[in-house]
Amino acid sequence: MKKIFYTSFFIFSLIACKNQKTAAQGYQGQGKSAVVSTLSKPVQKQWKGIWSFDNESVFFSNDFESGRLNGITSDGNNHYTALITAENTPINVSPWYAFKVWSNTPKTITIKMTYQDSRSRYYPKISTDGVNFTPLDSANFTGINKGTGSFGIKAVPEIVEISVNISQKPIFITAQELYGSTRVKNWIDSLATKPFISTYEIGRSREKRAVNLMEVSNGKHKKAVMVISRQHPPEVTGFLAMKSFIETLCGDSPKAQKFRDKYDLFVVPLMNPDGVDNGNWRHNMGGIDLNRDWQNFNQPETQSVRDFLIKKESGGYEFVFGADFHSTWDDIYYPIDSTITGEKGKIVFDWINNITNKLPQKHTNVKPSTTIKPTMVSRNYFYVNHGMPAIVFELGDNTPRDFLKEKGKVAAEELMDLLEGQD
Ligand SMILES: [Zn+2]
Repeated sequence: MKKIFYTSFFIFSLIACKNQKTAAQGYQGQGKSAVVSTLSKPVQKQWKGIWSFDNESVFFSNDFESGRLNGITSDGNNHYTALITAENTPINVSPWYAFKVWSNTPKTITIKMTYQDSRSRYYPKISTDGVNFTPLDSANFTGINKGTGSFGIKAVPEIVEISVNISQKPIFITAQELYGSTRVKNWIDSLATKPFISTYEIGRSREKRAVNLMEVSNGKHKKAVMVISRQHPPEVTGFLAMKSFIETLCGDSPKAQKFRDKYDLFVVPLMNPDGVDNGNWRHNMGGIDLNRDWQNFNQPETQSVRDFLIKKESGGYEFVFGADFHSTWDDIYYPIDSTITGEKGKIVFDWINNITNKLPQKHTNVKPSTTIKPTMVSRNYFYVNHGMPAIVFELGDNTPRDFLKEKGKVAAEELMDLLEGQD
């Protein structure tokens, strides 16, 4: 099962690459982030429940963690149209969807996926248990109004039609694998069975969900690494690399034990639990992109990490490295330019080089940022306010899952080596 899962992702990735002529150079990165207000704005909460069609014989549901289906209509002849909309606008192109479908008798149906003013960024994944996912067979996928560009949003179709076999056992159709707050908490708790790992809330989200922190510490020192992930709900591939990164740092290898003999590790794996559980495209339930709020701190999720860092620093902690995991069109590193960070930032660039040397099979672009004020994004806040060499670590939406895991592991090993060499 696992084998098929990884292999399918690999094949899918190959297909994706073949269709994108400039993919060899990879994603060139986004431009400078505009300064925007992060005061709360209204968001539309989706109706949650079950739709039934054809005399209660075909059913659709969005009523589960991370579910998103804003509307579904029957067009007759086993054809349906799904409407996927955002929590509010303006918003970037990351139309998340996740729903279940089943029927009283086995049949094949076609679903037309529409995304309001957006386009089809995420290739559909299918699951029968909500835990193990495989990409939809490409024979059952048709792009409509195909993109005219060669990369990113311009290269994907506006609408897609998918066909699926349904029966009494519901199947999940989702934009990426499901990692809602319950599944993430289970992962944290499974790691926290180790004696040197504890977990606690550092705050609450707007809808009062826990912002959980994982503390890896044997209580002997005051130097630490800070890691966060999932400010943006659909960015599951960044989360998966982060998960492997953390598991390696918490592992039983002599290298990891040596690392923990000198350093503590603080992790907030799910920065935006409301956004994730509501199936949001990007924002929290204040309608705000959290990764623009690290200057004014209008949102409770960012406030909780700010307060945590200030408390730890006033308790004598020195932060030696910070990483924020995200996903975008392809793997890319966003460090802070060396003209700003100088000697202090050298570890970040050494780290990127070392990971690249260990993983030559996939090219990863590096795009250093030359603007760090106003801080706005976590990486800048980490550096400006806490002197942390810091990076935004981006993984591709379609990066093969076995490679994500390998990259997270190698990234952890290389960081441990560099920190060891710093003493
Ligand atoms: Zn992001």
